[in-house]
Amino acid sequence: MTFDYDLFVIGGGSGGVRAARIAAGEHGAKVGLAEESRLGGTCVIRGCVPKKLMIFASQAGNMQAEMQGYGWPDAKTGDFSWEIYREKQDAELTRLELIYRAGLERAGVEVHDQRAKLADHHTVELADGTRMTAKHILIATGGRPAKIGVPGEEHAMISDDLFLMDKLPKRVLLVGGGFIACEFATILAGLGVDTVQAYRGDAVLRGFDREARDLATLQLSHQGIDLRLGITPTRLDKGADGITVSFDDDSTDRFDAVMFATGRDPYSWGLGLENTQVKTQPNGAIIVDEWSQTSVPSVYAVGDVTNRVNLTPVAIREGHSFADTVFGNKPRTVDHSIVASAVYLRPHELGSVGLTEEEAVLRGPVDVYSTVFRPMRSMFAGSDARMMMKLLVDPKTDKVLGCHIFGPEAGEMIQLSAIPIGMGATKAQFDATIAVHPTAAEELVTMRQPSRRHHGVPG
Ligand code: NDP
Repeated sequence: MTFDYDLFVIGGGSGGVRAARIAAGEHGAKVGLAEESRLGGTCVIRGCVPKKLMIFASQAGNMQAEMQGYGWPDAKTGDFSWEIYREKQDAELTRLELIYRAGLERAGVEVHDQRAKLADHHTVELADGTRMTAKHILIATGGRPAKIGVPGEEHAMISDDLFLMDKLPKRVLLVGGGFIACEFATILAGLGVDTVQAYRGDAVLRGFDREARDLATLQLSHQGIDLRLGITPTRLDKGADGITVSFDDDSTDRFDAVMFATGRDPYSWGLGLENTQVKTQPNGAIIVDEWSQTSVPSVYAVGDVTNRVNLTPVAIREGHSFADTVFGNKPRTVDHSIVASAVYLRPHELGSVGLTEEEAVLRGPVDVYSTVFRPMRSMFAGSDARMMMKLLVDPKTDKVLGCHIFGPEAGEMIQLSAIPIGMGATKAQFDATIAVHPTAAEELVTMRQPSRRHHGVPG
């Protein structure tokens, strides 16, 4: 049987674009790709990239305080202009989008700027009704923000909307305590917005190392965010003067805008999966094996739609591995066990790789090398902000099981720590590395004695 394409990719985000480019450009496959929105997907258009730009914009207040602490008494930032920032942001995203398109075209990928769905195991149907056949189909449609099902929540924004606001709200409520709520609370407070964050738990960033979570929780409050723990909205009412939110502790409050950052769902609906035997989990995640192959041999899926590790670089690696395996005769899978990540808070970020202290204890005995200190740079300027470095070590093998950094540029540091930890480095090898002085990162190679030792939790 002949097909129109060797590969048809549905979704032009990080995972889909990488798979299409490698399959066509490096392995010579005939590839088509459909994208209903803008090329680049969540990461480039409404996620990581504009978010990081906003983080940079929001640092001005901290920088002003620091400059004053370093002998510039007149250092002043003035007011932030969302209008100026927004124009620059939009231009940058357009530039990146064009780079993505050019990369696909250079590789020979045919791009269809419309929605596509599966008509059967080898056929896709575009929104204009055109049908095309492909030997292989890759679903890379990502995820979509989820709300929590309370009355009036249609009045609230999701993170996609935040980048498109015409003006900044004066007073905002962010719901959630995960990556997105914490990062946007940091950003909006830094831009001068009166920011309230409501989270149902007792410390933000569940899933991260507890000691780091406690420091992050404290920092959010110290950055002028009104962090309200142990509460969740129960209803939203829109009126002439804004949105009134009722909470489950019987309190109410009024905001100009509300944003839910309460997780993301795999974006698998409306994809025509009912026309196939592709299996999904109850939350819509497409079930795949280690080769990213679904229950239908000709259909593969990568990225957030599979709900494995929902991070851009993971989707890219999955897309690349898929293309190499299926079209390049270079079979390879993705190791999801050690993936570093960072939460971009301010002034201290949280970087994490490997097991948390809590996870390590469940696995067996663990030595904890941990230090909390005031970094030289901000301490001199009069800040009380605490930084944390932590290594978790298996006392039997001396292997470093996890590393957690809460401090300035922790995202940069954890990227580098992930290399030796991924290679299975021992604590002795960390210790044998001569420090770079004076840096904060040198603490990673100078912690000689464990600060505590856990014997592990039996069973
Ligand atoms: P997260 O899963 O990180 O956080 C969701 C938050 O919403 C949690 O605090 C959760 O509480 C809360 N929540 C969930 N359901 C409810 C509910 N019914 N009522 C009240 N609260 C609720 O999701 P995000 O939306 O923040 O981010 C989505 C994903 O995007 C992340 O998991 C990550 O994979 C990715 N991302 C990565 C970034 C990075 O790498 N820097 C940045 C931004 C996003 P609880 O903890 O109690 O369950």
